[in-house]
Amino acid sequence: MKLDRRTFLASAAAFFGGSLSPRRATAAALHRFRHGSFDVTVLSDGHFKLPADIVAPDAMPAEWVDIEKRLGGSGGAIDARCNVPLIETGSELILVDLGGGGKFQPTEGLLEGAVLSSGHDPLAVTKVLLTHAHPDHLWGMLGADGKPRFPNAAYYIGAPEWDFWMAPDYATAMPEALHAFADGSQRDLGAIRERVVTIKDGDEVAPGVHAIATPGHTPGHFSYAVSGPETLVVTGDVVTNEIVSFEHPTWRFGNDTDKQAAIATRKRFVDQSAADRFRLLGYHFAYPGLGRVERAGNAFRFVADT
Ligand SMILES: [Zn+2]
Ligand SMILES: [Zn+2]
Repeated sequence: MKLDRRTFLASAAAFFGGSLSPRRATAAALHRFRHGSFDVTVLSDGHFKLPADIVAPDAMPAEWVDIEKRLGGSGGAIDARCNVPLIETGSELILVDLGGGGKFQPTEGLLEGAVLSSGHDPLAVTKVLLTHAHPDHLWGMLGADGKPRFPNAAYYIGAPEWDFWMAPDYATAMPEALHAFADGSQRDLGAIRERVVTIKDGDEVAPGVHAIATPGHTPGHFSYAVSGPETLVVTGDVVTNEIVSFEHPTWRFGNDTDKQAAIATRKRFVDQSAADRFRLLGYHFAYPGLGRVERAGNAFRFVADT
């Protein structure tokens, strides 16, 4: 059974590995680096299409043409990567987010195969740190057998995030546009209910790893700071795009739950990232998503690591 699934995942990785674009899933070697006392491997769950009205609804047509070109997009859409760090502490094996499991768009769902490719057993994952419960971050929770892919992990999630998506009356209390997301959250978070740890701002979720509340994109969105000679921040969707989120931090993002709160949080986060010289790992940036923030005029610029 396990061999079958492994074989399937390997062939799926090969199938989606046809492009050499860093915005699309490739079969290239995994990016690994040392950060303080941690070993980090950037895995990929794949990529998916994001249209202009989600990425940058406030862009003028000419501005979008430029953004699409710089991001290698076409036809009014870009490819968004799903970069999932695997953090080894020496005693723990930690994933930040789970990808979409192929349930969101068919070009994602590669994470479990990537864990195997990195030389680790999914059963050995001790913690999963969730940034938020959107499909492209959560729906990789369950395998084809309907069981959690990482059954021995504890799952960390913001308390407001849990309360928002797990509300028993969501079908009447929540706008209909969010019902499909809530259905998925109830399925996936419900499956690991006994293994959940709800968190608040500043909590140490593993030695040297702290939760940072970054609400607005979703009500209980969290980023995670990993201690080292510099602070590495696994951003989640507080920043969603390496051009738009930095060069136009006050533009709306189409999938932000509370647009004004998301803009305020993003401005604060990007400003602090530049001032404190954070190294960022962006979930949807071109693989591997690592870089730093610089001030540029009245806004900012993301400088990817070379
Ligand atoms: Zn999101
Ligand atoms: Zn996302």
